[in-house]
Amino acid sequence: MDCIFCKIIAGEIPAKKIYEDDFVFAFYDIHPIAPVHVLIIPKKHIESVNDLEKGDVEIMGNMFLAAKKIALELGIAEKGYKLLVRTGRDGGQEVPHIHMHLLGGARLREDIGIMKNKG
Ligand code: AMP
Ligand code: ZN
Repeated sequence: MDCIFCKIIAGEIPAKKIYEDDFVFAFYDIHPIAPVHVLIIPKKHIESVNDLEKGDVEIMGNMFLAAKKIALELGIAEKGYKLLVRTGRDGGQEVPHIHMHLLGGARLREDIGIMKNKG
């Protein structure tokens, strides 16, 4: 499958892995926007939230549990962090394999601006 995140899971594209279990794979974002920026993805290729099915509930639950574990491991659990899932064009999703951004390590802005001059 021609999906960059599926290729990362398969080891065909290198990534800095931080966590893996039966359902989930997690690695550092290549262009971090916070001191801690990890991407948590399901091993199953699901394009976006719009493609979720009832049977994916266990996968999504395990993505949250992975976020909790990674935050604890990286020492940001107590101070807090942000979990972000972009969906589709207006949501700013660039990679069509569902992913949860784990952002932390500093106080983060709440910036939900409207994109100018972008189609
Ligand atoms: P989104 O805009 O929510 O679809 O986020 C996609 C994220 O994937 C961006 O933050 C990118 O920096 C990140 N990304 C794209 N390619 C790679 C890669 N090869 N390794 C790690 N992160 C990547
Ligand atoms: Zn994929």
